[in-house]
Amino acid sequence: MSIRIDRQRCVGCGKCAEICPGNLIIINENKKAFIRDPRDCWGCAACVKECRFQAIKYFLGADIGGKGTIMYVKKENDLLYWFFEKPSGEKEVIIQNPNDNTTY
Ligand code: SF4
Ligand code: SF4
Repeated sequence: MSIRIDRQRCVGCGKCAEICPGNLIIINENKKAFIRDPRDCWGCAACVKECRFQAIKYFLGADIGGKGTIMYVKKENDLLYWFFEKPSGEKEVIIQNPNDNTTY
């Protein structure tokens, strides 16, 4: 498991840096987020949920059965949309109400 930050999408808001429990994310002088060392990330996904610009992608490695699937999150109308993109291009979306953990 690891994350990748898309610098084209990143607007430098700093929310991911604030939420990371390990202080692993830094905003550089160009107002772009980067992770100091991806090997230190333990995959809590807090930054993925916090980013409103889908700039952070989470890789579900083969070691946990993810086979290279990429996960990212979009928030709309207080609902979280969890996108899963398989290497084949197939997509799955799980919609979650974070207030009561209901999924649709
Ligand atoms: S939360 Fe997203 S847009 Fe904001 S700094 Fe982090 S990666 Fe960039
Ligand atoms: S997944 Fe968790 S530990 Fe890893 S960079 Fe994001 S907030 Fe930090």
